[in-house]
Amino acid sequence: MIKIDDKSRCCGCGACAAACPISCIVMREDTEGFAYPEADAARCTGCGLCERVCPFLATEIHPRGKEGFLVINDNAGEREASSSGGAFSILARAAISEGGSVWGAATDRACHIRHIEVRHAEELAALRGSKYVESCLDESFRRIKERLQAGRRVVFSGTPCQVAGLRRYLGKPYRELLLIETACHGVASRRVWQQSLSELCDTKHIDRSEITAISFRDKSTGWKHYSFAVTTTHRKYTMRQTAYLRGYGNNLFLRPSCYRCRVKAAGSYADVTLADAWGVEEESSNACYRDDRGVSFVIPHTEKGRAAVTEMKECHIEAIEAGKMLAHNPCITQSVTEPKGRARFFELFLAGHTVDRCVASAAPISLPKRIEQLLTPALRALGIKGFTNRWRRKKE
Ligand SMILES: Cc1cc2nc3c(=O)[nH]c(=O)nc-3n(C[C@H](O)[C@H](O)[C@H](O)COP(=O)(O)OP(=O)(O)OC[C@H]3O[C@@H](n4cnc5c(N)ncnc54)[C@H](O)[C@@H]3O)c2cc1C
Repeated sequence: MIKIDDKSRCCGCGACAAACPISCIVMREDTEGFAYPEADAARCTGCGLCERVCPFLATEIHPRGKEGFLVINDNAGEREASSSGGAFSILARAAISEGGSVWGAATDRACHIRHIEVRHAEELAALRGSKYVESCLDESFRRIKERLQAGRRVVFSGTPCQVAGLRRYLGKPYRELLLIETACHGVASRRVWQQSLSELCDTKHIDRSEITAISFRDKSTGWKHYSFAVTTTHRKYTMRQTAYLRGYGNNLFLRPSCYRCRVKAAGSYADVTLADAWGVEEESSNACYRDDRGVSFVIPHTEKGRAAVTEMKECHIEAIEAGKMLAHNPCITQSVTEPKGRARFFELFLAGHTVDRCVASAAPISLPKRIEQLLTPALRALGIKGFTNRWRRKKE
């Protein structure tokens, strides 16, 4: 029977709950806002399936691909709404055009992040863009198995541990299944997300029921210096910085297992990895990568993944040695370090303080940084950019 004594050894994928033949495991949120399995000991028959499907207890994994690709979606609107270069949309559309369905993370009406199934290309908009919150998988794994057993084509996209969980749950490879993992810095607490959104709505006088879209990576201020955006039935609110994004960027409220990710450290369970092509300007002289609208870095790990990537249409695609790009993007293979401030953050958060206050206390902003933040908008408007960087470098 699955029992989580050490929270850093559970990624919350729910493979154990989906695999339980008598459904005696439920995924419940803890006080920090992360989902963990809870087994009903009185009903458990001790079959051990839950432990066998757990990706954190498993060792079987395939090595990462050595060849990578730089991809830019030709459709400017799709690229703009995607976090990187919009490679995901191209792979997803190919599956849909052949009668398949695509599973990925969407934001529901209550602004919870959930995996949903999409069967029509025009519905793919809901899946576009990174949502920096632990997504709820609900019954996704079981539904996917039903589709595959019926011979249907399926694309599943999620974090490396979700992909690993699905692969372990299915127990065998399916020809009709394409597994896509997004590179993953780590997933954040659902409770922190919900509270921070409520606080932001109070501050900006936004009626939550009028929210129609949320973007954690709004590119109106650029791909590299993205913003957070909330769109309502009346208008769009774009914010260069929020307490939530600062806390996420400082790794204050990631799932405990994200600081010790056993999946990405070992290799990949996916057919394809999608990431931001950070460092692309240094690795390629092609001017098309310099417009700051986003470039995808795509690594196929299997023959199936390679075929899907090389058959991508309506995009710019260029092969590149994966190792060169990985050097710019440590999050693909390494876990982030748990900051000292995490404990402080949750101490205050669980005592009822605002997310703003918890982040400010757990990751205080230094005085030079504060001055920089205050002056930057005015200096940008005057065309004097980067003065603090020069000043800092001079000081160092
Ligand atoms: C939590 C998280 C952390 C990330 N950290 C990094 C990083 O450190 N470095 C890096 O290079 N790239 C990271 N990425 C990946 C990157 O931001 C893009 O998602 C990826 O490059 C695909 O971009 P795209 O333009 O092809 O398509 P997009 O349209 O941007 O891709 C969207 C896909 O992401 C999936 N997705 C979105 N949110 C979630 C979620 N909460 N849980 C599971 N799946 C989700 C959707 O299902 C969809 O398939 C992260 C993504 C997520 C979700």
